[in-house]
Amino acid sequence: MYNSEEILADREKRGRFVARAAQSGDVITVKANIPGADKRIGESFLIVRYFVMKTLEAFKGSAEFYDGADGYCAVLSVSGENLKERAVELEKNDPVGRFTDIDVYLQGSTHSLSRGYMRRCYICGNTAFVCARRRTHTAEELLNTLKGEVRAYFGTRLAEIIKESLMAELDLENKFGLVTPTSNGSHPDLDYGIMQRAQDAIIPNLVRLFWIGFGSERTDGLLKELRPIGLEAENAMFAAVHTNTYKGFIFVAGLLLAAAGYALKNSGKCDIYSIIKEICRGITEELKLENLTFGGCAYGKYRVTGVRGHAENGFPAVRAAEEEIDDTFSSESLLAALCHTVGRIEDTVLLKRAGNLENYYYFKKKISELDVNDERRLQELNSECIKNGISIGGSADVLAAAVMVKKLKRLWYFE
Ligand SMILES: [Zn+2]
Repeated sequence: MYNSEEILADREKRGRFVARAAQSGDVITVKANIPGADKRIGESFLIVRYFVMKTLEAFKGSAEFYDGADGYCAVLSVSGENLKERAVELEKNDPVGRFTDIDVYLQGSTHSLSRGYMRRCYICGNTAFVCARRRTHTAEELLNTLKGEVRAYFGTRLAEIIKESLMAELDLENKFGLVTPTSNGSHPDLDYGIMQRAQDAIIPNLVRLFWIGFGSERTDGLLKELRPIGLEAENAMFAAVHTNTYKGFIFVAGLLLAAAGYALKNSGKCDIYSIIKEICRGITEELKLENLTFGGCAYGKYRVTGVRGHAENGFPAVRAAEEEIDDTFSSESLLAALCHTVGRIEDTVLLKRAGNLENYYYFKKKISELDVNDERRLQELNSECIKNGISIGGSADVLAAAVMVKKLKRLWYFE
């Protein structure tokens, strides 16, 4: 926490930083409007990075960040017409716009353009400066309202993103034994409807994992906090559909969500994959102790570290798939990314279904080298997988998680 002198001094320093940026072109600054003395609350980072994304969608430009006693601020060098009018629209038309200040500095200027309308108090709707002058609400009341609404809004957006990501994977056809809209592949206990009910059962717990990462000050010990929620997600899924699916997704996506929450809260550290490495350091050690699960047995038998090894390395296959998926999430790019993922990871679902290493490598090679645009070969290989009871569940989880990360990076600006 800083005192008011430090806050004022920082405000001046930021003013010089912005003025310097405005010397070479138009600038938009994005700040969170945080009541009280502590301007650097976690929610401020969520608000700023969210509006940076929205501003960069509206205008061409690039972002720099300024962080100090007066809070966290993005300084965007932008180009475009009617900057002020459009910046005001961004603020006005958004559910969390009330909690942000978007200011426009034209080239060469040291002062922002007037907003041109009165900000409303976000508790009672009166003119904000009147409430401030009369001290109608305490800083604590204002802060609680802000936190509650920001968390509710982003919680809903996260649930939507997770759902869309799972559906992007589920809706693909010809998936080498996985469930699709028209086939239950190699899974007699599953179908398209069951998969969707399982999704709905796990999503609320996955959103909770994001908030646990968001609330955490450090990465060591975080895994221990995440695990019980992951287990709750598995139990909710089993209660809903009486069978197991999406277990791998809960693990992979749950860790990624917690890492994203942690990254957003800790403004300086925004690489989700490096954070995963920190959270999962030493996780493969567990395999030596475990022989009840297939993962544990596969390690004992084949030294395959599966999803834990993948996590310990920072999910490189999620990153690779994320880079490979195109901006429209076309089914061609998703299917290609899925095939390449089979080649990139140790898919213990495939290993279990294949029954032995020879068979495992046979299907791994065939799927990962397939040209997905060759419709005839695609269907042939799909039929061969189903005939042999093959499935690539581990790779499907990675694909859905990669879609999710790509979508998270559209909701918030990550460096
Ligand atoms: Zn008010």
